[in-house]
Amino acid sequence: MSDLLHDAYQRALAYQHSLDNRAVFPSPEALAGMSAFDEAMPLTSQSPHETLALLDTYGSPATVANTGRRYFGFVTGGMLPITHATNWLATTWDQNGALYLTSPIVAKIETVALRWLIDLFGFPAQTAGAFVSGATMANFTALAAARHLLLKRQGWDVEADGLFNAPEIKVVVGDEVHISVLKALSMLGFGRNRLIRVPVDEQGRMIPDQMPYLDAMTIVCIQSGNVNSGAFDPAKEICEKAHAHGAWVHVDAAFGLWALASDELAPLGDGIALADSWTTDAHKWLNVPYDSGIVFCKHEEALLGAMSTNAAYLTASVQRDPANLVPEFSRCARALDVWGALRTLGKSGVSQMIEQNCALARLFADGLSQAGFSVLNDVVLNQVVVAFGDAPTTDAVIKAIQAEGTLWAGRTVWQGRTAMRISVSSWATTPADIEQSLEAMIRVANEVIASR
Ligand SMILES: *Cc1c(COP(=O)(O)O)cnc(C)c1O
Repeated sequence: MSDLLHDAYQRALAYQHSLDNRAVFPSPEALAGMSAFDEAMPLTSQSPHETLALLDTYGSPATVANTGRRYFGFVTGGMLPITHATNWLATTWDQNGALYLTSPIVAKIETVALRWLIDLFGFPAQTAGAFVSGATMANFTALAAARHLLLKRQGWDVEADGLFNAPEIKVVVGDEVHISVLKALSMLGFGRNRLIRVPVDEQGRMIPDQMPYLDAMTIVCIQSGNVNSGAFDPAKEICEKAHAHGAWVHVDAAFGLWALASDELAPLGDGIALADSWTTDAHKWLNVPYDSGIVFCKHEEALLGAMSTNAAYLTASVQRDPANLVPEFSRCARALDVWGALRTLGKSGVSQMIEQNCALARLFADGLSQAGFSVLNDVVLNQVVVAFGDAPTTDAVIKAIQAEGTLWAGRTVWQGRTAMRISVSSWATTPADIEQSLEAMIRVANEVIASR
């Protein structure tokens, strides 16, 4: 046993050391090497060392190096060293985080981490929270709570009686709503074609004047941190409008919520704390390992009402049973990594990490503009959207940059224009990485443009 773990440890260290000297996206050879796994399931037992060696030899090179310093794809954080360590210890513990009885320590750490986060984000003290697999499930959980409470106020028990013949709920989203909100809504019985979409401005922000009439049977989904531009919907204005008529406001802030940890950036999120529920990811900007999302809800009874399968919570249970607040029953101890990150960074460390990423995004944008390329968004956060010319040119440049290997960033379409989306979300990225990446991007882009 200890030999095997030692083997894994050595391989893990070697993997980390290899990250600086390999292409960020796996090379064609590495991808071809995955055919090593096309074997029949062994009929008899094999050596665990050999199994681990196979995984490392052909698996490690085919990974995307998103724990390295120059991965700028999607919105993907890296992994703080402390969270790598807590995650290893958590795996060793192999706790089931469903109940206090299945793991007192997981239930305890969840409570502590949630209290710290509620304070960090400035949410009302009575806010409840829970750990789920990511922002998609956090959106699902929060919107289930919203559905529960709005219908309960009309005398309808949706968990018991379902949605058939229930009073109708109106759901309002912005035109730039994240697809995971649409997925969550559809799983809750709110079909895509029935949503009311509100137009957005040139940064992708909802235009409050164009909202429909809101009432006590409305859920408004706003966004803090657009996946392309990083822009925030005007939370204060929308929350005030919604609450004047008894509507519920849900905020998808998968990465944007972390701006609230910084005095410099918090004004972007003015009014977020007025909402009823919030979604965020820890595996993005807090830089903890996958998978790790968090849901917050101002109305604990709504979250319990939607997620609890027994009424025991009504009898003032002293212990917090996480399964009463989330869709899953058995689940991993993901809160340990969140707690480890928060305890190690402290408030100032979280704030510094977020501000540093935003400063590096501005460095990216300045370098690309100076080289003559078009930055399409106001770089208010950690996101940069850049076009290298018309759509076919931009597509060719993106492909060439991805193949060159110094960095990886993906493709998007922003307000009708094909563009590269750059997200600076890793604790490990330094100014030197931005310089190195800019040098590679500008060189490759100019080569592609000259050859066309
Ligand atoms: C990433 C993201 C999501 C989905 O998050 P997962 O953790 O992948 O489920 C939802 N909303 C926004 C704004 C995001 O950036």
